[in-house]
Amino acid sequence: MTGSAWPPELSKEHEQHVLDHAADWALAHGLVLRPLDASTTSGIHAPYSLFPSPFPRHLFEEAKRLQPLYNDLYARITADDAFLEQVVGGAVSKVDEFQGRLYDIWKQVKKEGIKQSLALGLFRSDYLIHAPDRTSPDQYEIKQVEFNTISSSFGALSTRVGELHRYLLASGAYPSHPSLTPSALHPNPALSGLASGLAAAHKAYGNDNAAVLMVTQDNERNAFDQRPLEYELIEKHGIRLLRIPFSQLRTTLSLDPSTHALLYTPSSPLPSLPSPLEISLVYYRTAYSPTDYYTSAEWDTRLLIERSKAIKCPSVGMQLAGAKKVQEVLGSHPEALERFVKSEKDREELRRTFTELYPMDDSELGKEALRKAYEESERFVLKPQREGGGNNIYRGDIPPFLDRLAEEDKRRGIDEQKGYILMSLIEPPKGMEQVLVKAGEDKGRRADVVSELGIYGVVLLRENVDDATALPEVLVNETVGHLLRTKGRESDEGGVAVGFSVIDSPMLT
Ligand code: ADP
Ligand code: MG
Ligand code: MG
Repeated sequence: MTGSAWPPELSKEHEQHVLDHAADWALAHGLVLRPLDASTTSGIHAPYSLFPSPFPRHLFEEAKRLQPLYNDLYARITADDAFLEQVVGGAVSKVDEFQGRLYDIWKQVKKEGIKQSLALGLFRSDYLIHAPDRTSPDQYEIKQVEFNTISSSFGALSTRVGELHRYLLASGAYPSHPSLTPSALHPNPALSGLASGLAAAHKAYGNDNAAVLMVTQDNERNAFDQRPLEYELIEKHGIRLLRIPFSQLRTTLSLDPSTHALLYTPSSPLPSLPSPLEISLVYYRTAYSPTDYYTSAEWDTRLLIERSKAIKCPSVGMQLAGAKKVQEVLGSHPEALERFVKSEKDREELRRTFTELYPMDDSELGKEALRKAYEESERFVLKPQREGGGNNIYRGDIPPFLDRLAEEDKRRGIDEQKGYILMSLIEPPKGMEQVLVKAGEDKGRRADVVSELGIYGVVLLRENVDDATALPEVLVNETVGHLLRTKGRESDEGGVAVGFSVIDSPMLT
């Protein structure tokens, strides 16, 4: 960073000018959400930062450089039955009902024989900058928060926010500032890259007349992060994508008994589309959280899809590979990383991004973790096997939480604690400020902030169905863009959709 303050201080009139231009650009370019009342046909702009946020260029480049390694690592984990059996099939699937059900589906489909050996991953590896006290910016490191293998969102909106910030610079709305240059605002092809991943999987399926199925949550507010993928597919690739809520699939999906093709039969089919319609690829923007399965019918739907020969993004095995337990095992057991990454140099690069990770089980390491969780709780976050934000337990809340869990476990005769992992807290740089803008607030909110960088990765892999010990064939391995989410320092969590944070873009320094 230069010596000049960030973000620049503006006169009231000037800030209003930037706010007005930003809001109009956002509404004009689909940087929008559905309002809380999802029944209306209006939209509000998504939360964004008024300026891009400074981010060290070398750390941004490092995160991008690592993505092909992470893509490959998670492709290999997905295809390693013995590893998933051991790591997820152990205590986790027994004490965590949700993981247990996913695991059962995986086992069942493996036993029956999988009908589709291809799987698509639209991944996102998330990082925070680790800057413990008294380190200077050249000593900062990136540390991985988590690796998402299902429903990695905000690709489209993050592409838009990058464009918004470039527009505000090019149009002269921003004041001049030495760090704020066109070359500091890196292009972000997340939207087109994720769509190309979907297109590659569709083509690999090999039926031009089939369509891609995007499965969403009911009453999805984040529709305008999803629709652009449909539009990209039709406009650039000539591929149809149907966007259907999970709950509507109970009655509309079926399997062709002889070919195992996945067939979609809408209750009121369009005259111009075949009915039933064959589905080439099922892309989940739901199904990662217990609450996404509204009734047992959604579990039946999930099983039906897994049994089909449609390609899944992700397959249930790939979803299991993204469990936080897997991240913990990679971090706490060096031989696990050695199993998947043969090059010592690559392992070293990956390991540099790991925090301290511990199991919460009966092993020696688990006992040490339990002691740390009580005696050094201020250094840690405790995580269950969940996605979607809002599930973690931080710092001083950990000991009383574990006390309660132990009591409940005793009463119920299970050991739920084993379904958690303990992770050391990453310490982002202090003194970062940003103007956070939410629809309906007439001014931006200046706040002390923390930014989380996500890198999107696309993987198309082919498992060897005859040999569960063979390496998968990785047909596509790409790094396709990034997401910067910025939140007020006071909030521990960072889900944009749950209202804790805004979408940002990096200003490389
Ligand atoms: P989820 O899958 O629910 O998004 P995460 O592991 O990403 O779970 O945790 C949610 C949020 O909690 C992150 O976006 C980040 O803000 C915060 N967080 C998670 N792990 C850490 C950590 N080790 N250090 C600091 N903050 C963390
Ligand atoms: Mg996650
Ligand atoms: Mg997360």
